[in-house]
Amino acid sequence: MSSITLTLGLCKELCLAALTSPRIALNMPSALAITKVVLSAESDGAKSHGLFRLPGYCAGILHGKVNPNLEPIITDVSPGAVVCDAQHGYAPLAFERALPQLVKKTKANGVGVLSIRNSFHFAALWYEAEQLALQNLSCIVCVNSKSFVAQPNGSGRRLYGTNPMAFGMPRKNGLSPLVIDQASSAMARGEIQMHQGPLPDGVGIDSNGQPTSNIQAVLNGAQLPFGGIKGANIAMMVELMAAGMTGSPFSFEAHDDDPHWFGPTRHGEFIIAIDSEMLGGDGEHNEQLFERLVMEGGRIPGSKRHQKRREKNDSIVLSKALYDEIVAITDGKDNITQGYLKK
Ligand code: NDP
Repeated sequence: MSSITLTLGLCKELCLAALTSPRIALNMPSALAITKVVLSAESDGAKSHGLFRLPGYCAGILHGKVNPNLEPIITDVSPGAVVCDAQHGYAPLAFERALPQLVKKTKANGVGVLSIRNSFHFAALWYEAEQLALQNLSCIVCVNSKSFVAQPNGSGRRLYGTNPMAFGMPRKNGLSPLVIDQASSAMARGEIQMHQGPLPDGVGIDSNGQPTSNIQAVLNGAQLPFGGIKGANIAMMVELMAAGMTGSPFSFEAHDDDPHWFGPTRHGEFIIAIDSEMLGGDGEHNEQLFERLVMEGGRIPGSKRHQKRREKNDSIVLSKALYDEIVAITDGKDNITQGYLKK
């Protein structure tokens, strides 16, 4: 597969040019917020949430799902809670706009909650977790999506989204935060789409409910949760926090409303932020757990991305096909390669 190498600066130009091109016409604050998220993923080597997502962001607008002129509405509902209606817009701007209030409330109360509804989240959750860690706050972040995941040993029909959940915690002495960010499916959908060769066992089933290692069969059939029924229960918990607690559609409802659409989906995001020092937490004590983890042969979650970030790599490699698609979108042509609309 032929590839092309760009600097981060050129990636930024590519991203902004596509998002603000005449046919997409996303407003500048939202385009900048998405570009920041996409570039962070590229800098961290998290390719499945970098430029690979850009055609999907554009498709969401081209197909009339996402409002390109959004301005989120923030409501201060209580001393500890803030609600953000993203107005059918992309989540990065909603989060950016609501963040100052969430931080203020959490620092005043020890804990704060942000409920985002009517948003389209198409990124990795570690971004939000790290923004909160930069403010010296811990957090839990949940997002639901469109149903892609079946109940294990059930009918084989899709029920839950790939429903990621992240946990972030700042560390002392300028160390990168601990960030656990994982889908509740055995494998994230973007990872399946980018996977080469047969899939590992337990990733998904075909449309007849039979286990398969074939990528297309899983994409047409259903994914499976990690860890059997326990993972399915986590997927349910995320569904209830991200959709149930924000007044947003469950993943199966998002699917039933728009069964042929596989791009960004309207759903909810729920964030609990915690000032652990105010609650008696001790960052030095946590370091003892991390030291023991490493002694036992483990590594700190998030450290793979942080290592990549420290390398300050300014050569971003992307496939020529993806680059050509982004340029074509900017030039006013349809984007079709990632199959967001299936009849
Ligand atoms: P991974 O399986 O790649 O990683 C899950 C977590 O485990 C990461 O925090 C990772 O840290 C950590 N980890 C991996 N290997 C080790 C190890 N050996 N020791 C310790 N920690 C480890 O993630 P997923 O494939 O489940 O999810 C991928 C992404 O997809 C997530 O960022 C998620 O937010 C996103 N997503 C977004 C959706 C949306 O609708 N917006 C839907 C579903 C997923 P590290 O980074 O250091 O490897």
